[in-house]
Amino acid sequence: MHNVEIAWVFYEIADLLEIKEDNPFKPRAYRKAGRTIAKWDQPLSALKEDEIRAIPGVGAALAAKITELLKTGKCEYHQKLREEVPLGLLEVLAIPGLGAKTARTLYRKLGITTIDELEAAAKARKIRTLPGMGNKTEFAILHGIDMLRTGSGAAPVGVATAVGRNLAEFLAALPEVTQVSLAGSTRRMKEMIGDIDLVVASEKPVEVTGLFVKHPSVKEVSAHGENQVKAITWLGIQVDLLVVGPQEYWAALHHFTGSKEHNQRLQELAGERGLKIYEYGVFPEGQDESLPVNSEEDLYLALGLPYIPPELREDEGEIEAALEGTLPDLVSVEDIRGDLHLHSKWSDGVATIEEIVAAARQRGYEYIAITDHSKSLAIAGGLKEERLMEQHRYIDELNRGLEDFRVLRGIEVDILSDGRLDYGDELLSGMDVVIASIHSGFRQSREEMTKRMLSALKNPHVNILAHPTGRMLGRRDAYEVDLEKVFEAAAKYDKVLEINASPDRLDLNAENVRRAAKDYGLKIAVNTDAHHISKLEDMYFGIGTARRGWLEKKDVINTFTLEELGRIFGKRG
Ligand SMILES: [Zn+2]
Ligand SMILES: [Zn+2]
Repeated sequence: MHNVEIAWVFYEIADLLEIKEDNPFKPRAYRKAGRTIAKWDQPLSALKEDEIRAIPGVGAALAAKITELLKTGKCEYHQKLREEVPLGLLEVLAIPGLGAKTARTLYRKLGITTIDELEAAAKARKIRTLPGMGNKTEFAILHGIDMLRTGSGAAPVGVATAVGRNLAEFLAALPEVTQVSLAGSTRRMKEMIGDIDLVVASEKPVEVTGLFVKHPSVKEVSAHGENQVKAITWLGIQVDLLVVGPQEYWAALHHFTGSKEHNQRLQELAGERGLKIYEYGVFPEGQDESLPVNSEEDLYLALGLPYIPPELREDEGEIEAALEGTLPDLVSVEDIRGDLHLHSKWSDGVATIEEIVAAARQRGYEYIAITDHSKSLAIAGGLKEERLMEQHRYIDELNRGLEDFRVLRGIEVDILSDGRLDYGDELLSGMDVVIASIHSGFRQSREEMTKRMLSALKNPHVNILAHPTGRMLGRRDAYEVDLEKVFEAAAKYDKVLEINASPDRLDLNAENVRRAAKDYGLKIAVNTDAHHISKLEDMYFGIGTARRGWLEKKDVINTFTLEELGRIFGKRG
């Protein structure tokens, strides 16, 4: 039994304990020990029990279980837990973003023990009523179940990244592995991912692929070679693993990051320089020894090019820009100073404003805007005028107690079907940030929808147009709207367009972002629209889209200081 297989048993014990009881210490101890064991550089099977006991975080009780596992291949305690906790709940845990704590709440409060029961409860809108969950959680659950069922393959980048990172983390923990990275379209941050590519450097490919096929997320193995695996996970997503020698790693990572079109162009450039690029190295013609490639930068350097980031590798002008020395200096997550579209408990979010502030500060932000829903959106707890004023007084009070941080008083105001906004001008003029967006009447004609958006953009109090096309990835198409007219109007009235960073939306998409910024000179806000503090992390996906849209720091307003932001919004900072 490999160390990592023992670790998997410990992780499952931790999950089962977490579903079963409230005591957080025991599961934590099993997970911690599991992590240590997975990385331990000697095989535990070669150690004596007292040596196992001496491993940090293991101790007598866990050492006895390890010895039992090594001797019998099983552990009685683990088996007993599997009998006590409905095993369907372990499958429920396969849904991305659904942890053991949520599974316990679902089990305790609604008696859910299987995916079928979970689906029924979500469809009956029972999930949103549970503590710490909301309608977004409910949608995410239904979406996750859909994927489990259909195994249709293509997954939104958010799901693919979560699954890919989980597998990469396991691979990175193996002592046999020296390097690992996500590759393919996940690394290029495309919005829909056909299969997850992983590239690993190791001297022991047979061991690595042999363990990979036994990983608990793997449901089916469709191909298993010495250094390659094709598998399907429980979520129905295909994963391709390639294991190469450490010298070949960077060339392989580059090759399997793609895109094909980008690599094709590089081949041509290489040919002009008397070179050939393969997935295992860069070779001068007629020679069988690769030039030294110790990074992707080296590979581009060999072709006389500066480094081209993965998000640009689509053969959409990046090679020409690299040759001319005009590649953009892409915006990054580290540049972000704040999030300008957030929902609190005051409407349909699940966190208090204080909790959001704490989470934002932890990310190093300097400001946030609280932008709850407006009154017409009653199903999302939209705020009546008096409630909004009350919230603003509350925020003023909160700001007085904050140092080096500012909460902007904002609103996500609905653009009504006739183009009017959900509040009057007087109220809107008192806000620090006004986001306008559409949440109803999606089926209007192209003319009506365009007119509706233009009339919102004309309003002098509106600052940002949120999720401008309304699409939900894999679930709802963009509305019929003349985006050129929207871009023109936004430029004319100095409005900012949003990249909604939720991986379910990514709206505007990369292609439209690039046009908006480059052809119309528009500024962009990358906002998470988080309804839960954990979703502040979605900034990563929004920035991925911004990078695919060639945006630099100067294009993205939430990289600006509070003072600069005040100038953009035409208000004091
Ligand atoms: Zn919205
Ligand atoms: Zn929102």
